[in-house]
Amino acid sequence: MRPTPKDDSLIRNQAYIDGQWVDALSGETFAVTNPATGDVLTNVSRCGAKETAHAIKAADTAQQLWKKTSAKERFAYLMKWHDLMHEHLEDLALLLTLEQGKPLAEAKGEVLYGANYVRWFAEEAKRVYGDTIPNATSDTRLLVIKQPIGVVACITPWNFPNAMLARKIAPALAAGNTVVCKPANETPLSALALAELADRAGIPAGVINMVNGITPEIGEEITSNPIVRKLTFTGSTPIGKKLTADSARTMKRTSMELGGNAPFIVFDDADLDAAVSGLMISKFRNAGQTCVCSNRIFVQSGIYDAFVERLNKAVSELVVGDGRSEGTSIGPLVHERAANNVRALIEEAVSKGATSKSFAIDELPNACFVAPTILTDVSDDMRIFHEEIFGPVAPIFKFDTENDVIKRANDTPFGLAAYFYSRDIGRVWRVSEALEYGMVGINAGAISNEMAPFGGVKESGQGREGSKYGLDDYLEIKSLCMGGIDT
Ligand code: NAP
Repeated sequence: MRPTPKDDSLIRNQAYIDGQWVDALSGETFAVTNPATGDVLTNVSRCGAKETAHAIKAADTAQQLWKKTSAKERFAYLMKWHDLMHEHLEDLALLLTLEQGKPLAEAKGEVLYGANYVRWFAEEAKRVYGDTIPNATSDTRLLVIKQPIGVVACITPWNFPNAMLARKIAPALAAGNTVVCKPANETPLSALALAELADRAGIPAGVINMVNGITPEIGEEITSNPIVRKLTFTGSTPIGKKLTADSARTMKRTSMELGGNAPFIVFDDADLDAAVSGLMISKFRNAGQTCVCSNRIFVQSGIYDAFVERLNKAVSELVVGDGRSEGTSIGPLVHERAANNVRALIEEAVSKGATSKSFAIDELPNACFVAPTILTDVSDDMRIFHEEIFGPVAPIFKFDTENDVIKRANDTPFGLAAYFYSRDIGRVWRVSEALEYGMVGINAGAISNEMAPFGGVKESGQGREGSKYGLDDYLEIKSLCMGGIDT
């Protein structure tokens, strides 16, 4: 197992402000640990409101020049950054695994997924089209141009520390904005390595800034500072609601990518093997710590037993361990608190009558690990039905009719991703239209890529990332009315 990246200058532990690597004004730091071993990887500068205000000012100054660059120039900067991500793929993946725990193969997949967004938005920079509108009066002409918003704040979670940031910074920069980023304190190293590569790509000082540390202070500065014109956030629904409310004080634009409670429905006409494969991807990737992870698995009564049997076999083949070890498919959860939450959900379900079956060949290495678990005999009154599990636990609910399952699938305040398996074309349309979710996988367990819009409805948020729609979240529409044409 390789302990550190080959290029150790990718390990950055200071804030990145105005093109400089700087300590916190207090000189304080906080520890970043490897959840698989408990080892401290490094200590990172613990910044607060003052450093954040400095970063915002630097981003504002830089934006005055950045917004004047041509689309082709921004394309070239972003492509250079993208190419460096590919060049340093192995190192970026290792850093990600070290601080977050996911298996190396998944970490590589995440880095490439993030890089795909950078390339996509590099191209999209060249497609910020305006409009001409038919004249309302004979001597006027109407046009629409699109302009950058200004300084954009990006706050991201620990579950995809590389890609969540790449898919915010890339569209922000492509549209001519500059950014102040606050990556999760659990996993700042992947983010800081991206800043280091942006620096090497020649992206001008102040265009990308990054601070970590005293989260409430940083959040308060971001949401109260009038220079920040937009906040894009990925994280939990409660924090998203708070940041939206706080941003209202200065009427910032907001994009919110929040929590989910994804149903995964298997109808009795489904291809069962395909459904099991799709569920393994959507449930167990990142040890179940994704916002689009299947949370409630609904299986029609006629195929319930056959499905559970096949799923048992597939889950028994998962390998739990350190993400750096060859063959590991399930790493640790991000910290012990997260693992305890998952254990509490299992215990509550069992106390109400669920049957739990755990799969782990060896003893678990430490308390951050949770064995892959299948829960049967579950019911809708259990917490596991209503809450985001964020762990490798698959509760299998039984249903009888299409109407019944749609009602239960929609019985949640969340609306991010949903999945269903059926080969009946009429049902495919009916269920796709009836599910109150931003994204629906139909006979597919992996649904996200840079070409498709990513985002939720209801309390899963607002706005879309990626796709041809993604850039609009980072642009203002300006209407130009030209008079005096006939004079
Ligand atoms: P979280 O607790 O909401 O944290 C997300 C980010 O917000 C972290 O950087 C966190 O900082 C920061 N934060 C927390 N309180 C803040 C405040 N008062 N002001 C400013 N920033 C603040 O979520 P998480 O546990 O890291 O991530 C898991 C959640 O993210 C899940 O609900 C998951 O579904 C959701 N998620 C959604 C998507 C999507 O696209 N819809 C994608 C991935 C994850 P610190 O952690 O450093 O304190």
